[in-house]
Amino acid sequence: MKILSARRLKKYFPIRSGVFLQVSAYVRALKAVDIDVEEGATIGIVGESGCGKSTLGRTLVKIHEPTEGKITYCDPTGQEHDVSRSLGRNLAPTFRKDIQMIFQNPYDSLDPRMTIRDTVREPIITHRLLPDAGAVDSYVAELLTKVGLYPEYAARYPHEFSGGQRQRIAIARSISVRPRLLICDEPTSALDVSVQSQVINLLKDIQRETNMALVFISHNLDVVHHMSDRIMVMYLGSVVESAPSDALFDAPMHPYTQALMSAVPSWDPRNRKLGAVKLEGEPPSPINPPPGCPFHPRCPRRMDVCEKTMPEAVDIGGGHMVACHLFAGS
Ligand code: SF4
Repeated sequence: MKILSARRLKKYFPIRSGVFLQVSAYVRALKAVDIDVEEGATIGIVGESGCGKSTLGRTLVKIHEPTEGKITYCDPTGQEHDVSRSLGRNLAPTFRKDIQMIFQNPYDSLDPRMTIRDTVREPIITHRLLPDAGAVDSYVAELLTKVGLYPEYAARYPHEFSGGQRQRIAIARSISVRPRLLICDEPTSALDVSVQSQVINLLKDIQRETNMALVFISHNLDVVHHMSDRIMVMYLGSVVESAPSDALFDAPMHPYTQALMSAVPSWDPRNRKLGAVKLEGEPPSPINPPPGCPFHPRCPRRMDVCEKTMPEAVDIGGGHMVACHLFAGS
């Protein structure tokens, strides 16, 4: 069953300047992105920093209002709601409970003045999940145990914990309302390597138990491969390739995906043979993106058409979508 989908999703941030703070330009962070998230599935989103992957996560969870496009949320009874323009109380009643998000830096997402007990119990009380304070406290203790923390830690404050422990607290808070979808924005990139795999395994364990869907945003290709059923590769606000995880890693087709994989030193030797494509330079500014294919200024395989016409995504088989003129007519 589908939980969330988006069509032609755009997010432009205005840049204001001058005495009257007039809009002088836009940062085109998201350009016509489509995504479908099914129950129990994991969608990985990869790309260099600034490619729009975090904006996509924040727009899906309605932290950002989309500039254009449609977001459809399917509630637990199967009823569809267009939540593109809904805010606050106008959102479908179960949306805020069903769709949760965790962030890169758990220190920013936890209130330093709140104990861990209050942090984890706040959403349970907001959504009136349990009948009384005793039941809430037992549930908080259960959640802390589930994420690998001692229930006795509940009286402590965020600054008393390591980065990995803080991310576990953020996960406990997010899963406390039994979400159907958890959007994870670089959840391990602020953590020590030794702790990263613990957090990833914790998320996988919770997903196995609850059938929760994950949108897993990361610049780490190995982690995304390990986590995801399907992967979307983003470049300058657009999805340039998306495919089932193994298909994408066995045979990346878009020159940008190939370059991204070639740039990872620890990458699987099979894929290192691709090393033909080298990722050089920085992505162009999203304020003034190039015409045509957004990757053309850096693409070693660019053709004349690439500089003028934006390629449409085509299915080259088995749901492997590539937006590149090399595959036009495939
Ligand atoms: Fe390269 Fe052209 Fe394909 Fe863009 S459309 S990735 S510039 S070959």
